[in-house]
Amino acid sequence: MNENILEIENLTVSFDGFNALNHLTFTMNTGELRVIIGPNGAGKTTFLDVITGKVKPTQGKVFFKGRNLRKYSEDSIARFGIGRKFQTPRVYLNLTPRENLEISCNRNKNVFQTLFKPTPASEHNTVKTLLETIGLVAKADIASGLLSHGEKQWLEIGMLLAQSPDLLLVDEPVAGLTDEETALTGELLISLAQSHSIIVIEHDMEFVRQIARKVTVLHEGSVLCEGSIEEVQNDPKVIQVYLGS
Ligand code: ADP
Repeated sequence: MNENILEIENLTVSFDGFNALNHLTFTMNTGELRVIIGPNGAGKTTFLDVITGKVKPTQGKVFFKGRNLRKYSEDSIARFGIGRKFQTPRVYLNLTPRENLEISCNRNKNVFQTLFKPTPASEHNTVKTLLETIGLVAKADIASGLLSHGEKQWLEIGMLLAQSPDLLLVDEPVAGLTDEETALTGELLISLAQSHSIIVIEHDMEFVRQIARKVTVLHEGSVLCEGSIEEVQNDPKVIQVYLGS
């Protein structure tokens, strides 16, 4: 197994001559839970866009499990085992959580095939396990539109897990959540980190403190500093960027 799930070197992304990412170098071990913070415009979204293949680099190396991602399309990269959760949940609101998960377990079929054909026993077990993982067993059969915002976020995480990704990219998972939902989301991500590599982009520093072992601070398209939450919070460069912005 490759020890580094991600190896990114000297990555630059230019939009009309403006460097959204600027000679960024980033390495992440397999099994790590990494939190990325940084002021607005620091390049966090562009960074995830490059990893998923949505944005192609102008320059630099992007390797996932030893594979050069620059050679592949966004679809191929998703099949290699990278799952992305956007800030706004993308679930079918008229379908139940169970049905949403069944569809995700069987992406190759369309919605109607999944709903109207009998589900094989193996898939039933997978969906059951996913419902347990995301804490939605009791709400498995209500319309997903009736779930709270936090529950929809967990459902979408479950839908990503159904694709068996090795690397999960999670964009601001607790924006708009209650304190209790935020704490539960933290517990979920920490437990998922036992079997996945995870990158979380987050602004909520209380939440970062709850989940982070290692934090990377982005600023103006580059890594400003990395370390434990205490190390980055006490770093003079970070203090200057946050107080100055
Ligand atoms: P963050 O997610 O940290 O707020 P972004 O990655 O969204 O930062 O953006 C980094 C910088 O790149 C910003 O200055 C933004 O305006 C710019 N940018 C992002 N996407 C584009 C684009 N498609 N075209 C031009 N500029 C862009």
